[in-house]
Parts: sequence; C-alpha cells; structure tokens
Amino acid sequence: MERKVRVRFAPSPTGPLHIGGARTALYNYLFARQHGGEMILRIEDTDSQRFVPGAEEYINESLAWLGIGIDEGVKEGGSYGPYRQSERRDIYRKHVQQLLDSGKAYIAFDTPEELDAARQSTPNFQYDASTRMNMRNSLSMDKEEVDKLIADGTKYVVRFKIEPGRAVVVDDMLRGEVTIKSDILDDKVLYKSADDLPTYHLANIVDDHLMEVSHVIRGEEWLPSAPLHVLLYEAFGWTDTMPRFVHLPLLLKPDGKGKLSKRDGDRLGFPVFPLEWHDPKSGEISSGYREKGYLPDAVVNFLALLGWNPGDDTEIMSMDELIKKFSFDHCSRAGAKFAFEKGKWFNHTYIQEKSDEELAQLFMPVLAQEGVDTTNFTPDYIAKATGMVKGRVNFIGELWDNAKFFFCAPDCYDAKSVKKRWTEGMGGIMKELTDVLDEFDDFTSDEIEPRVLGWIEEKGYHLGNVMNAFRLAVVGECKGPHMFNITALLGKEETLSRIHTAVSRLGYGPANAE
Ligand code: GLU
Repeated sequence: MERKVRVRFAPSPTGPLHIGGARTALYNYLFARQHGGEMILRIEDTDSQRFVPGAEEYINESLAWLGIGIDEGVKEGGSYGPYRQSERRDIYRKHVQQLLDSGKAYIAFDTPEELDAARQSTPNFQYDASTRMNMRNSLSMDKEEVDKLIADGTKYVVRFKIEPGRAVVVDDMLRGEVTIKSDILDDKVLYKSADDLPTYHLANIVDDHLMEVSHVIRGEEWLPSAPLHVLLYEAFGWTDTMPRFVHLPLLLKPDGKGKLSKRDGDRLGFPVFPLEWHDPKSGEISSGYREKGYLPDAVVNFLALLGWNPGDDTEIMSMDELIKKFSFDHCSRAGAKFAFEKGKWFNHTYIQEKSDEELAQLFMPVLAQEGVDTTNFTPDYIAKATGMVKGRVNFIGELWDNAKFFFCAPDCYDAKSVKKRWTEGMGGIMKELTDVLDEFDDFTSDEIEPRVLGWIEEKGYHLGNVMNAFRLAVVGECKGPHMFNITALLGKEETLSRIHTAVSRLGYGPANAE
C-alpha cells in the first residue's frame, strides 16, 4: 500500500534561513501538496551552543512570506507534537535508554583531553570497533566502575555501536541506491549527559519515525548522515517505515565553482536570505529578497527552477502550476548555479503581471518612505502612475525613480538635456504652449496630442526640441512614459504650473541664460 506522504522541513535555529534552505522547504511543500500529503515544520534546537534568538521567528516569517504553507508545526500545532525538539527531552531519553538496554549503544566517559590524546597517538583515529576497547566506556570497563562514575555525576555521552563489515544501503530518489560500508562510520554520539540533550543524529531520526515521515527531502550536505538514519531505524526495529531519501544538489556560486555563500551575495550584489536579517550579536544587517523589492511568487518560481525543470522550457509558473508539475524525475543531481540575474528577470515579469492597483499597494510604503503624503492623491491616480512606469522596473523600489515626478514637481532640471533641448527662444515657445494647452478643459491625450503636434507643425518648430523641452519642464529630465499620458494624469493646472516654473527658472534660452 502507498504510504501517506508526510514530509518535514527541519531547520536548526542557528541563524537566518539561507536561500538554499528556502528551496529545500519549497520542494518539500510542492511534493507534499502534489500528493495530498502533509508538511511538517520541525525546529531542531538541540544544539544550545549554536542557538540564535530570533532565528525561529525568522524562519516562520520567511516561509509565510514565500507562501510555503505548513500543516503541522510549533505555530500550527498538530497531533505529533511538540514540534520543537528542546521540548521532547523525555522522548529522546526513553529512546536512548532503549538502545542502551538492547546493547545497541553504550556509555562513554572519555574527556575531550583523552579524545585529543587518542587522535594524537593513532593516525586517522576514529571512535569505532577498532578503537573502542581502548577507550573509557561501558564496553571496556567493569559495570561497577561505570555505575560508580554515573552515580558520582561524571559527565558521559551515549554512543551508537556501529557493527563493522556491513553494507548500508540508502535509497535515494535522485541518486538511486547508495551503498556505504559501515566500517567508515564512527560510533556517533547520540546523547550528552552534560546538557541532558540528544545530538542532532538521534533527535532527527527518532522524530522522523514518530512523526511518520515518509520522505526525507534535504540538502546534499546531509547525505553522510543517511547511513546512520538507516542503521538507527534498524536498531530500533523500524525498518518497515524507513523514509525514502532525496538529497538535493547544492546551490552553486553564480560565477565559478563552489557552494553559494553569503560573501557571493555581498560581492555580486544580491541577497542570500528571503528577508532582511538583523544579527542579534554583531548587529550586522544582511539584505533580504523581500526588502529588495522582490515579489514572493517571483522568488518561488525562480527557486523552483534551480535544480528542477518541468520537462519542457516553460519558465513562468504559479505555485499551483508548480504543485501540478513538480517531480523528482526532473530534478538534476548536479549543483545548480545561482543565476541571480535570471531572478531579476522573473521579478520583472511578475511585476508586469500584477494589476496596477496591486502594484500601487506595494508602492505605497516606498512613497511614504520618500516623504510623499499619499493622502494628497487618489488611489486611482497612484495606480495609473504606477501602471505607466511598471514596464521599466525590475523591483518595487525602482518605481520611485521612474514615477517620482507624478508626486513632486521637478526641483531641478537635467543639465545635459537643458543644454541640448532648451534652445534659443525655448522659453517663449513654452509660453505659447501654455496658451495652447489652456484651451482645453478635457486634458486626455486623445484631445491634446493632435492639437499640440499640429501647433508645432504649423509654426515650423523643431519637433524633437519642443517635445523634449516640454518633457524637461514637466518631468525634470528627458525620459519617462508617453508625454501626453503624463500630462493627462497630472491634469491641466499642474502641467501649466510646471511649465511656468521652468520658464521662470531656465529663462528664454541660452541667449538669456546667465
Ligand atoms: N536540522 C538539520 C538542518 O539544520 C536538518 C537536516 C535534515 O533535514 O535532516 O538542516
């Protein structure tokens, strides 16, 4: 019988969620949704030394922003909880005891100094079948001595007893059956009495079983942990419910080889975190996709295609389409170069697909930040202004540079354009233009455009110079959307006032300029 699909994203709250982690979460989510399964968010916080305050909240907020829905987790609840490992100590303690009782694990007292000494004296030292009898543990020592040390409160760890000579098979959906010799594995520490907490290895595996995880989908850096997963499932007698594995390829630097790092982002100017991250210790601020003006749908689409394709060259896909099309059959085993320029293209494309009203909503905070009192403008005005410039931007923040003249009259004029376009007598021509424009009450471009162009022709004026001077006066520089669409939105009063201001500031032309 097919097993119910239950997947988990299991981050450790040791810092902000990396964009590679976001992709892992996304693939888990797509797979779960496609199979009508469940997506679990488990917080793996057993390493108290590496715990970073705020990281868990950051992970939750990032997933919510990306639209990666969680069915069971710390916030969502669920019948397999608690979902924070630090709240599951009793469960782990019980499982450690079970392994000790069945002789699958043992207690070791070696101090860090003793372990160092062993490393010094034995080349390539590994704590395993070949060395464990020379170490201080419950296999090499008398029971009374062990009991006494424990009774005295001596710190100890519990190690998994790996049997040598075994071929351990990991069933990976991307890589096929990966066979590893048990001899290369060391007797992993599963539990530390010092903080009464299990290590990642034990907690991760026990929870996968108890939470009935059917598929472990995670980054390829965890492949070395998979044989231990298999052996521990066996030791507990859970082999029938062994999850299937998927170890996803790494995200690589956009240029050259190697794993994508935060430094690549700093060097090439792109974020490696979904949201801006304020490091609580160093105070350092790292940029995030959200704050850079990316749309979450665009980031999701971009991430989905880093290591997967739908089997054809379709690029733009909504979350629902991704859920329908996603499959590990079309996942690559090779690392995926982090093509951040392509990410910009996705964002540009998604911006074009938004309605002017939706974009205006996203633009509002930018306007406020730039000091615009948005109550002076109707929602329709803001939407139209946004719509006119959206074709020019990759990011929401860039809307400001392209649309600011809709919200404030120019306070200066581009010097190069003035020199080129504000030719002899231009001030006079602009004054005439105000008279022409003044004839109209209806300021639509359909009305004004033919009349203004007709007037330029009638007078024999230079079309390029007059239209550019007109644009300079209204916009402040010689770029922007169609001139008559701009004036239609600004309205008669504002357009005329800007031309008058330009004439009084730029004068009648070079002959009159100081
Ligand atoms: N806590 C591990 C991490 O931080 C989980 C690895 C796994 O998914 O098994 O990524």
